[in-house]
Amino acid sequence: MKYIGAHVSAAGGVENAPIRAHEIGATAFALFTKNQRQWVAKPLSEQSIELFKANCERYGYSSKQILPHDSYLINLGHPDIDKRQKSLDAFIDELQRCQQLGITLLNFHPGSHLREISEQQCMDYIAESINFALDQTQGVTAVIENTAGQGSNLGYKHEQLAYLIDKVEDKTRVGVCFDTCHAYAAGYDLKNDYEGVMQDFENVVGFEYLKGMHINDSKAKLGQKLDRHHSLGAGEIGWEAFKNIMQDPRIDEIPMTLETIDPDIWSEEIRTLKSFTEA
Ligand SMILES: [Zn+2]
Ligand SMILES: [Zn+2]
Repeated sequence: MKYIGAHVSAAGGVENAPIRAHEIGATAFALFTKNQRQWVAKPLSEQSIELFKANCERYGYSSKQILPHDSYLINLGHPDIDKRQKSLDAFIDELQRCQQLGITLLNFHPGSHLREISEQQCMDYIAESINFALDQTQGVTAVIENTAGQGSNLGYKHEQLAYLIDKVEDKTRVGVCFDTCHAYAAGYDLKNDYEGVMQDFENVVGFEYLKGMHINDSKAKLGQKLDRHHSLGAGEIGWEAFKNIMQDPRIDEIPMTLETIDPDIWSEEIRTLKSFTEA
């Protein structure tokens, strides 16, 4: 079963996210469980938690169809120990919010070295942060997203994702979210060599760790290392790759969500993606 949806707004409360997902015909959704541009958020209210769970049940979203994204401010590999600690505290809070909502996955960008430390050192900090956070929480899997490699962001190579997984002690609570736009911009040619890219993913990371996908076209060219999403078919990747994904039996039972630039056509994009699974 392919679960297909979008990153929907949680404005007015997290309980609104499953309603909005349902309205666009989604069978999966992503959301922020707090304002993604602020460090501190007030705790989720009992009422919000109960309503979120009730709405998920009403519209048929089980935990494996929901992939929340953490705050953009968090950098688990920050070179500065105080700032890294601040990120770690915020990350633990995000995991706990998921736990409260009955969500079992949390998607995050690995981190960036800010050109102050080596990639290696940053990777080790990230792994250490993940281990610490998993130790402090229960039941939620840390889902590392591949990046376009913009700026000093790590996670732009399958080898880097594999390195982090390797360093995480609890392998049952770590996974990867594959963003098609990021992969393409990082140099993985999903357009002309879909099979080659996925074979490399299998060899280096392994599909057993694939816990989610972000389905985005890319404004940036192959290997340009820029994070610029586009509507499906309107960017450099094109529809064929998305059709391949929808027909790939190795990619199944995971949330696949749009972060494309025009929410007005999400329902159309979802419908098209679903039609590929039936072909
Ligand atoms: Zn993404
Ligand atoms: Zn992106």
